[in-house]
Amino acid sequence: MNNEKMIIIGAGAAGLCAAIVQARQGKKVLLLEQNNKIGKKILASGNGKCNIDNKHIDLRRFHSQNPLFIEAVLKGHGFDVVEKFFTSLGLELVEGKEEKMFPMSLQASSVVELLEYEAKRVGVEILCDCAVTQIDKTGSTFTLESSQGNFSCETLLLASGSPAAPQLGGSNSGYAFATKMGHTLIPRHPSLVQLCSEETWVKNCAGVKVAGLAKLYANGEYITEKKGDLLFTNYGISGLAILDLSREVSTRLANFDYCELSLDLMPELSKEKLTNLLLPRVNKVSEKPLNLWLQGVINKKLIHIILEQSKCKVRVEDHLNRKEINKLVHAIKNLKLSINDTKGFTGAEVATGGINTTEVNAKTMESKLVKNLFFAGEILDVDGDRGGFNFHWAWVTGMRAGMR
Ligand SMILES: Cc1cc2nc3c(=O)[nH]c(=O)nc-3n(C[C@H](O)[C@H](O)[C@H](O)COP(=O)(O)OP(=O)(O)OC[C@H]3O[C@@H](n4cnc5c(N)ncnc54)[C@H](O)[C@@H]3O)c2cc1C
Repeated sequence: MNNEKMIIIGAGAAGLCAAIVQARQGKKVLLLEQNNKIGKKILASGNGKCNIDNKHIDLRRFHSQNPLFIEAVLKGHGFDVVEKFFTSLGLELVEGKEEKMFPMSLQASSVVELLEYEAKRVGVEILCDCAVTQIDKTGSTFTLESSQGNFSCETLLLASGSPAAPQLGGSNSGYAFATKMGHTLIPRHPSLVQLCSEETWVKNCAGVKVAGLAKLYANGEYITEKKGDLLFTNYGISGLAILDLSREVSTRLANFDYCELSLDLMPELSKEKLTNLLLPRVNKVSEKPLNLWLQGVINKKLIHIILEQSKCKVRVEDHLNRKEINKLVHAIKNLKLSINDTKGFTGAEVATGGINTTEVNAKTMESKLVKNLFFAGEILDVDGDRGGFNFHWAWVTGMRAGMR
């Protein structure tokens, strides 16, 4: 077998991008993918629309134990570079909310199909259903064992992603290959993931979605907060605000911290405004049950837990006084939910941690420990916020590795 080619393990965002960039320079590329088709995570992304990038690339939206590495990689590799790459494939991008970018077709499949077309056009050989199981390096040659036989090469790119979403190809295999060759790992935890609670009341509220605010407390100490959808489910809680908090929760749960959320179900109304809304609603000649009275302002499935947590003593509307109203307002704006777990890698969009980036050259993505071994994408100890930042990382590290 001709050893001159670059072998890339993983036909996800990073591997496909690297393969195209490398082959455009006239180099031979063999792309090995364990799934039966390429780009499965791209296809599933953004609810099938693919939030391909974010127009506003900001270092604070990426996380790693080595932020200087992120800074070095992103220098000169902002959104414009990614846009240019996709324009060269014939894919136009459009902007959505929060500066999120999408393919103009709003179809993730068009991203994958145009990447595949271009890869094949420039001569990339793609082999699906090919799971690499072992890698050895002897002298300057990498020898790969796979479900489709052995391969060898002088240049190897590990773009095999993280363990997030194993149903779409998420795997730890790249880490095993890299650690065998001397690399170290930063611990991985699920991120952009739903949260689980053992409290039974959430199950009774399953399906209720509110535009709220979730504050995270760890061991009783305020940590951070995120605004957005809160979706109660039969296992706990999901929604955009929760996904945005999940990185912090996941890391803290792994540290055995006690995590509790305080949910503000009406963040647009201050305590004072909510009190002023509720007070005039007290009708002194009505014996209306309190739960029915509250239905006038809040989803009925949430009323039971609000009454329980508020410890409101009265049961009918006209017994409400200022103090009882204050208790209700406090509960609506500080509903407590303890969190005992996340939905794990199966529910996660990404994983924190990965290959220790102090061992990788930020310009070329080449290993500082193993010559001609490269990394790209989520396999590295970098993860991004929701909003296209994870794909941005995959595209630009793919480009850097492909330019080597
Ligand atoms: C449901 C979902 C929705 C998402 N939506 C968005 C979004 O809208 N915007 C955004 O920015 N990010 C999104 N993400 C995150 C984004 O998909 C990932 O960060 C990105 O795909 C990482 O790219 P990658 O190339 O590093 O890894 P991957 O895309 O995971 O590709 C790695 C590939 O390597 C293959 N592989 C692994 N091991 C082997 C092996 N041993 N042999 C052969 N092949 C192997 C895998 O099958 C996989 O195809 C989403 C993720 C999920 C799960």
